[in-house]
Amino acid sequence: MCAVLAEPTRKALNSLLARGETINSVTGYRVGLTRGTLDDQGNRTEYSNHSFGIALDINADINGLYGNCIQFNAGCRLRKGGHWQPNKPGGLHKNKPTVRTLKNIGYKWGGEIKGRQKDFMHFSPSGY
Ligand SMILES: [Zn+2]
Repeated sequence: MCAVLAEPTRKALNSLLARGETINSVTGYRVGLTRGTLDDQGNRTEYSNHSFGIALDINADINGLYGNCIQFNAGCRLRKGGHWQPNKPGGLHKNKPTVRTLKNIGYKWGGEIKGRQKDFMHFSPSGY
């Protein structure tokens, strides 16, 4: 994570673990072109917030990234990670302590972003 977010994020995750929350995987810094417009070969052209160390993904195996998903329903298409299982330990939902705690320190949750994607594993200052 970037230097500004690393310590508050570490403290928040440690407090969640101490309270018995299930956090099996965390991915922060990762360079990738996953935002912006498509080039002529269908590839994204802008760096993700992970590329700047200001985003993290938690328990991606049960909190997938979906496209075609203005509101979550059976028509949403899983694009990354595993199927969203919000009621499993480690599954994320707006009322789960992990989501509430990270929002309290300034993150927005990718499960609540506007638009065609719902990224249930993802947290960043903008949610994107
Ligand atoms: Zn992410």
